[in-house]
Parts: sequence; C-alpha cells; structure tokens
Amino acid sequence: MPVLVMKFGGTSVGDLDRIRNAAEKVRREVERGHDVIVVVSAMSGKTNELVGWVEQTSPLFDAREYDAVVSSGENVTAGLMALTLQEMDVPARSWQGWQVPLKTTSAHSAARIEEIPRANIDQKFAEGMRVAVVAGFQGISPEGRITTLGRGGSDTTAVAFAAAFDAVRCDIYTDVDGVYTTDPRIEDKARKLDRIAFEEMLELASLGAKVLQTRSVELAMRYKVKLRVLSSFEDTDDNSGTLVCAEEDIVEQNVVSGVAYSRDEAKMTLISVADRPGIAAAIFGPLSRAGVNVDMIVQNISEEGRTDMTFSCPVNQVARAADAMEKAKAAGEINFHGLVADTDVAKVSVVGIGMRSHAGVAARMFDALAAEGINIKVITTSEIKISVLIDRKYMELAVQALHDAFGLDKAA
Ligand code: ASP
Ligand code: MG
Repeated sequence: MPVLVMKFGGTSVGDLDRIRNAAEKVRREVERGHDVIVVVSAMSGKTNELVGWVEQTSPLFDAREYDAVVSSGENVTAGLMALTLQEMDVPARSWQGWQVPLKTTSAHSAARIEEIPRANIDQKFAEGMRVAVVAGFQGISPEGRITTLGRGGSDTTAVAFAAAFDAVRCDIYTDVDGVYTTDPRIEDKARKLDRIAFEEMLELASLGAKVLQTRSVELAMRYKVKLRVLSSFEDTDDNSGTLVCAEEDIVEQNVVSGVAYSRDEAKMTLISVADRPGIAAAIFGPLSRAGVNVDMIVQNISEEGRTDMTFSCPVNQVARAADAMEKAKAAGEINFHGLVADTDVAKVSVVGIGMRSHAGVAARMFDALAAEGINIKVITTSEIKISVLIDRKYMELAVQALHDAFGLDKAA
C-alpha cells in the first residue's frame, strides 16, 4: 500500500481532544488506502518545560542527559496517539527513535540522521498494522544513547521517514494553514502560496519564517520528497495548504515569492584594520570559535593600507563578538582603531527563483525602500535572494512596502 507520512506539531497534539482530532485525520487517510507513518511532536510547551528543568538542575549540563530528558515529551504523545487510534479500531503501534532504529550521529542536542532501516516497521505493516506512530525529534547514537535533532527536529524526522519509505507525500500539520508571502501579522494582504520551490522555502526557513525546520527542507530537496504544510484545525483535502516542491512543478511563478524579515540583528564594524592577506581569517576565525553566527560581511575599499570591516550577527551575540575581537586584539592577532556596534537593526529580504531570469529586482527593491525614506545600511545578494539591513523601527514599513512593490497580494 502507498505510504503517507503525516506529522503533527505541538499545538496539534496539545491536549487529548486535539490528539483525537489529529487521529481522525489519520483514520481518514487509512480508509483511503494509505499505510500511514505519523510523526508527533511533544505537546505544546512541553519541550520548553523539559529544557527548563535540565537548565535548573545543571546549568552546564551533560548533553547526553539533556537528550534523555528533552526527548521524553515525544514518547508521551506517540503512545497517546497510538492508543487513540486503537480506540478508533485503527491498528496502530508507537515507535520511539531507538526502536525503529533511527540512527544518528553522536552530536547530542543537534544530531543528524544517518539511516532509517525499514525492516522493523515494514514487517509490522505486512502483519496488518496500518499506522506507525513515531516519536519525532529523537534517535539513537552509535554508542547506543538517545539523541535529539535540534529544536523543531520533528519536521526533519518526518521528511527522513518520507524519504526512507518512498512516501507519496509528507504532510506537515501545524497551526497555520500554509506558507504565506510574508507574515500576515505584519501585512494583512499577505497571501497563502499554493506552491513554493524547495530553494525558496529553504531561504525563507533560514530567514526566520518558522514554519519548517531548515534541515527538513534541505532533506526534502535532496530526496525530492513532496512536502506539504497545512492546518490541523481545518477540514483539509488533497489541495489544502502549501506544497513545497521542485521548481519544475510550479507553473505560474512571481519573480519574487516572499518577503522575510529577522528582527534581532546587530551590525558591528571594526574601524581601520590592516588590509593584508589573512585579515579576514584573523577576524572571522575567532568569531566562529566564540560561537558567533556571522551573517552578512562587508569590507570597505582600503585607504593607505587600512580598511573597515562590517558584519552582522544576532543581537544577543554582540557581547560575545566584542569580547572575541578585544581578545584577538590583545593577543596581537588583529589591530583596529574602534569597534562600533549598532544593535537597532533588522534584516529584510526578498526571495524568489524568478530572480534568476529577471533583471531589475534589486533596483525595484531599493526604489521601494527609498520611496519610504528608509536608509539601507548593508546589502547582500544571492542568486534568489536580496537582503538589506535597515533601522529596526522601519522593519514593518519595509516589509509592507516590498510586499506592495512586488505585487505579492496577487498571484502571477
Ligand atoms: N518538541 C521538539 C521542539 O519543540 C521538536 C519538535 O517539536 O519539532 O523543538
Ligand atoms: Mg515546529
């Protein structure tokens, strides 16, 4: 029988009624002739509570025990979902990560999936089980210890199962009804997209549209898993939600598909560093070792052998970044005349695969921002994305102006 993967996020299994509602959707797919792999998150709020307990018990916790505790939320929902389905006369069985076994690396709290052998679950399907309920977010390391895949990791569990079992599709049920052109809380003309390309979703996911874990989109793209985001609180059918798919499967395509933003950015400038071979390595090496996630980088033209280097990072990493730079200076690895941090910036980006074949997207973006009197501080581009740093107080305005300028309220 064709396999369908259905993943339910924390709010979709937030209490027993919601688990029943989700189980109803699963039963419908079983009746339509699918064998179903259900992947569940912990009940909403549970994982945060467990993380809190670990941190209170042991501030510098052992990551193996963090995983032992934090993975447990999914065990509860997997068992409850299997019981709920059994009560509906649907043959179901729960599976914790180690029972599958979902094999991962030993990078505790951020493990990567290595392999999902099908034999155990296939055998149960052959014996008449119709639904395998899998605890998301967790696996087992080569050392035989429980691992977790990083926050939001159940999405990745779901896509990995869809790839391993050649599923017809991977449906991600959540509390929103799809992927939007931008955040509807900021722009009320935001429109739900019927389809979005993997590459675009990847950019939007990593830019802070929190619908899907970035890693899950990477996996879906690599294994060509048809991925769908849809609401668990609405009546849904085969056309509901947003399909994340290959570029070739999208017929009508706007040049720009979405506007993304990230509020908590900071811009740091090292003033007057020596412009010599190795200077970038001497600056960004220590930053990376200090765990600073550098995003944009701009190096100015040099004058008399000295230049300014500007980079952006999350605002809560500014102190750490400054500390790393001062230490590198004290150690004689770099030299600069000043270090300026601007902690009131936000990043706004337009994303779209249509940019590959259309000129003038950047100009249109800059025009729209200029018309609102918004000053651009840093610009970066990739093949399908243009990002700018601006003053945070203009972020909403910029998102709205760009949404308008690219006509995103209307389908192509
Ligand atoms: N419960 C885990 C978390 O909150 C995994 C997930 O829900 O995807 O990060
Ligand atoms: Mg999630």
